[in-house]
Amino acid sequence: MHYKSFRNATYAPAAYVKESSLEKIKADIEKVGKYVKLDKIYLETYRSSVTVEREKMEAVKKLFTDSGYQVSGGITTTVAGPLMGSMCFTDPENRKKLGEVVALTAELFDEVILDDFYFTNCRCEACIKAKGERDWATFRLALMQDISENVILKNAKAANPNVHMIIKFPNWYESFQACGYNTEEEPPVFDSIYTGTETRDPHYTHQNLPRYLSYFLPRWMEHIKPGKNGGGWYDLFECDLEDYVQQAYLTVFAKCRENMLFCFPLLARFPLYTAAAGAFYDEIDPVAAQLGEPVGVACYKPFHSPGERHLYDFVGMLGIPLEPYPAYPADAPVVFLTADAAWDGDLVGKIKKSLLAGKKVIITSGLYSALAEKGIREILPLDVTNRKVTSDIFTNNGFGQNSHAISKAAAPITMPRVTYNTNDFWVMSAVLTPHDSHPLLLRGSYGEGWLYVLTVPETFADLYNLPAETLTLLRGELELPVTIECGGKIGLFLYDNDTFIVQSFAKLPEEVTVRINRSGATLTPLNDTLRLPQKARSGDEESVFTVSLLPGHYAAFKVN
Ligand SMILES: [Zn+2]
Repeated sequence: MHYKSFRNATYAPAAYVKESSLEKIKADIEKVGKYVKLDKIYLETYRSSVTVEREKMEAVKKLFTDSGYQVSGGITTTVAGPLMGSMCFTDPENRKKLGEVVALTAELFDEVILDDFYFTNCRCEACIKAKGERDWATFRLALMQDISENVILKNAKAANPNVHMIIKFPNWYESFQACGYNTEEEPPVFDSIYTGTETRDPHYTHQNLPRYLSYFLPRWMEHIKPGKNGGGWYDLFECDLEDYVQQAYLTVFAKCRENMLFCFPLLARFPLYTAAAGAFYDEIDPVAAQLGEPVGVACYKPFHSPGERHLYDFVGMLGIPLEPYPAYPADAPVVFLTADAAWDGDLVGKIKKSLLAGKKVIITSGLYSALAEKGIREILPLDVTNRKVTSDIFTNNGFGQNSHAISKAAAPITMPRVTYNTNDFWVMSAVLTPHDSHPLLLRGSYGEGWLYVLTVPETFADLYNLPAETLTLLRGELELPVTIECGGKIGLFLYDNDTFIVQSFAKLPEEVTVRINRSGATLTPLNDTLRLPQKARSGDEESVFTVSLLPGHYAAFKVN
């Protein structure tokens, strides 16, 4: 391994392996090696009806092994055709073909990864008939589980009992169940899993994935199969350089064991991108070696649970570090929940238990609505109405005007109007319209605990426009050892050994105020920063610093 904290891998698609001469591949190995240090390559035997012959694969394998690479196998379960070319898995011919490809690959390699086209979006007559009365998600989850156990793993293990089979889950986690990716039942049967961290351009691409997903998703997958999330996988499609390297940053911040730079021929063709990634890995390795395990505000994303799609990813870009779990985090002192959590039919009971145990539970207005008829009103009644309010003026404490804690958002924000019972709930932050006021953050007690309700804008990205003071107030309720005081589009990544990273997702330089929750603390930078952190203020319970960030860049620190 070139690095202490992670392995770097890449991937060669079947067409490249099949069609490139050995001289061409050798030249590419030399070229790529100038820009990035790679430990491993996955050589693909099959994709879109292209199969690499055994003899060619053996020769390519030797070429990479001789160049110091570890080699593993890869398969992409596509056929030439429409709809992303995903296979019809009810077709006996496809099942047979897939079984043969898997057997061939397992004979050639002791480790095999399935690229993330391992799903079905087929609605052919045979699939419609096989679905019967079930909904598509239920049918497809069962179908892909059957293929995983009875086609993929059965044939692989028969061909090579020692083969280590990896299923890579894509970046589109909110839609997994719709196309048969089964995060509940596939991880237990595969030897390990792998995570797509390719967020690319978060704005102009149709997938429209908030950058924080590159961190959030591998953390969720890590809790789905602890210790067995093999790596994070990103690429340069639809990326400018900044998009590209931010994916690399977050994959390392999430403590992925392996970074997959998809794919080898692209690394050879676009050396500017390759060099940027290579420079980042040289820079981050000594930093990553000092980071503990990621920690943050516990949040709950049940299996197969679209709700407020990607809201967790937007919240993660507000300087709120999130640690996502597929099971309710009953022991966490603070729990943050979006409407995704409503997929758990016992959620209200679990919230009650947390509150009675003296914990804080923060829920979104969307989750409150989803639970309105499921018992949440019995904890604390309020109404998320159908009326909307739009404003850019916010108050930031219980009695806004008294302390002049009024601030302006970067742009007007539209959100639902929430009504509540005065003195049953306390307004911690409100949005002001002429002659009226509407809650943004409410807090009410239940047992020894506190229930918070956060009104979520109609467009989640408007959260980035909330005033710095309002975001700071929200962050201050989360019982974190480190908090930041600034606007949105800044990420905070906490680790369990007093280290942390502040990451800018902004296009302009940022001055971020970092508050440590104890007196007399100092900060040691773990990477080269533009300016050393400056002490901003200090008190009995805090040490506060100003940290300068370049646009899109990060700063890592150890708290002493
Ligand atoms: Zn079909």
